Amino acid sequence: MIDIAQVRRDTPGCETFIHFDNAGASPMPDPVFRAVTDHMAAERALGGYEAERRAQPALECLYTGLADLLNAAPDEIAYAENATRAWNMAVYALPWAEGDRVIVHGSEYASNMLAFLHLERRHGITIDIAPSDGTGQIDVDALERMITAKTKLISLVHVPTQGGLVNPAAAVGDAARRHGVTYALDACQSVGQMAVDVGKIGCDILTCTGRKYLRGPRGTGFLYIRRDLANRLDPPFIDLHAANWSAERSFDIAPAARRFENYESNVAGRIGLARAVAYARKVGIASIEARIESLAQELRQTLNAIRGVTLQDLGARTCGIVTFTIDQVDPIAVRDVLFQKGISTSVSLVNHARLDLGRRETGPVLRASVHYFNTEGEIERFGAAVARIALNTSIQTEKLSS
Ligand SMILES: *Cc1c(COP(=O)(O)O)cnc(C)c1O
Repeated sequence: MIDIAQVRRDTPGCETFIHFDNAGASPMPDPVFRAVTDHMAAERALGGYEAERRAQPALECLYTGLADLLNAAPDEIAYAENATRAWNMAVYALPWAEGDRVIVHGSEYASNMLAFLHLERRHGITIDIAPSDGTGQIDVDALERMITAKTKLISLVHVPTQGGLVNPAAAVGDAARRHGVTYALDACQSVGQMAVDVGKIGCDILTCTGRKYLRGPRGTGFLYIRRDLANRLDPPFIDLHAANWSAERSFDIAPAARRFENYESNVAGRIGLARAVAYARKVGIASIEARIESLAQELRQTLNAIRGVTLQDLGARTCGIVTFTIDQVDPIAVRDVLFQKGISTSVSLVNHARLDLGRRETGPVLRASVHYFNTEGEIERFGAAVARIALNTSIQTEKLSS
């Protein structure tokens, strides 16, 4: 059981603001905030290098904590400044050649798809799009039939940014393993929200950001990469941290995941991310997952009861991200009105999800994403605010048409 009063005390913004954009950037809990600001203070007092040396144990916790969280080894974790760069470092390192194929799904993230279109233009690779089943999740049987000898990579988003869907990541892992295809899982919205075990899922690459469900600082992220795959890959860039200049005309690339890191980084951010992982594990991932699921179901029921509101989530299994539209209303205007009322939400744009929102012709959708520190009372207040907007709009529409 989560001590809701305690986690809300650790999140002082809760007192005056309803945080329903946890999929965008969830507020840092106080222990994370303090870890970041304490390190900044140490840098101010001692200088950056001296403060970093003193913080070595806290920095090591990033690797051991993430390894424990994901069921990986510490040398399979690389820190990165965001999830996109972590993903790029691994995916651009794959030895792409003309005629190679990648399989993606309609839930693919915009930056990942842009990278594949870039690789298509640069190397002549082919992008295959696996269909969805009747529920909207990836159709694993169809995916398996699409695999050819030329398939280099399967790329899957575990939970898309634009909807509550949870893709069957482990079933895709089974298929990838049976066919010996490398499997990259974008877990930006799932790590910190639900149990994610790289052994059970069977992915070779996993990427995540710090600021979303993990509640870490902005500008932080990480890569998990299976050790034997990492050791075979040539990173797109190296520096004096990712490699050692062993002789005037020679160098050795660092072992395992470290080859994908770079030398300079936001040390306070790394310490904050490590603290965020520890905080999430202390709250308990299983409890977090259960609470988010129940709050999200309640939120969906609340929204579903409002005339003029349409839920837009897909999936056999859904999570803490809830997407919806209101008849005749621009989602951005709704987001702005809600913000003025002290509620954060966000809008998923069509050009951020062309294979999903574009194909479904939903237009942009509103996104309310709940976390374990949210409450039933906040959902009620949110529902009332949305109902007022929907009602005002229907009155105005009736006036215009009469
Ligand atoms: C946010 C997000 C990303 C990108 O993470 P950054 O840290 O902003 O690079 C990638 N994939 C998904 C599914 C996301 O939600």
